[in-house]
Amino acid sequence: MCAEGGIHEIEPRSGVAFTLDRGDRLTVIDPRGEQVADLLAFNRHDLDEVISSGRTLDYASRIYLTTGDPLYSNRSNVLLRIVEDTVGRHDFLLTPCSSDTFRIIYGDAHPHRGCFGNLAAALQPYGIAPDRIPVAFNCFMNVPVDAATGALRVEPPLSRAGDHISFVAERDLVIGLTACSALQSNNGRFKPIHYRIERGEGRTQPA
Ligand SMILES: [Zn+2]
Repeated sequence: MCAEGGIHEIEPRSGVAFTLDRGDRLTVIDPRGEQVADLLAFNRHDLDEVISSGRTLDYASRIYLTTGDPLYSNRSNVLLRIVEDTVGRHDFLLTPCSSDTFRIIYGDAHPHRGCFGNLAAALQPYGIAPDRIPVAFNCFMNVPVDAATGALRVEPPLSRAGDHISFVAERDLVIGLTACSALQSNNGRFKPIHYRIERGEGRTQPA
């Protein structure tokens, strides 16, 4: 769905996939506040190259990334770079929520397929199989870590309505993006996510 001004909407508990060309700018917007969006990136010309939490956090020597930070691939190439960030708290530790997440953590008898299932379905037309899905960059997800014990907590996002994070593509990419389906990550309410693509030469993507 494409609303005014080239803004696309991802419905609550769903996901999409699309391509970016090198130089394109992707802005992920939290329209109502406290809503997480899982972001994946694959090299469009070689799908074995994929966004890597391990390499990115290793090279950053930090777990919280923000404006200026690159997101590396498993081959240590920069796939995306964060160029604007109005929140300053995102997660790159936890894997996309899935039916197993809801079964194991929440005890759901009939679990939703989660971000993982939504990403798998959206990426399937691009030839990306579910087993290729790595840890996603979780826009707006707030996961504080206890410095002494390493204990994790999933807290409500710090994002407020209209907050956003922008990335520039440094390769031609296939992107997967969700409106996260986990109650705990989104302070108990499932909301949409908006995104906008600005093409490299300042053109806005046609609807
Ligand atoms: Zn999720």
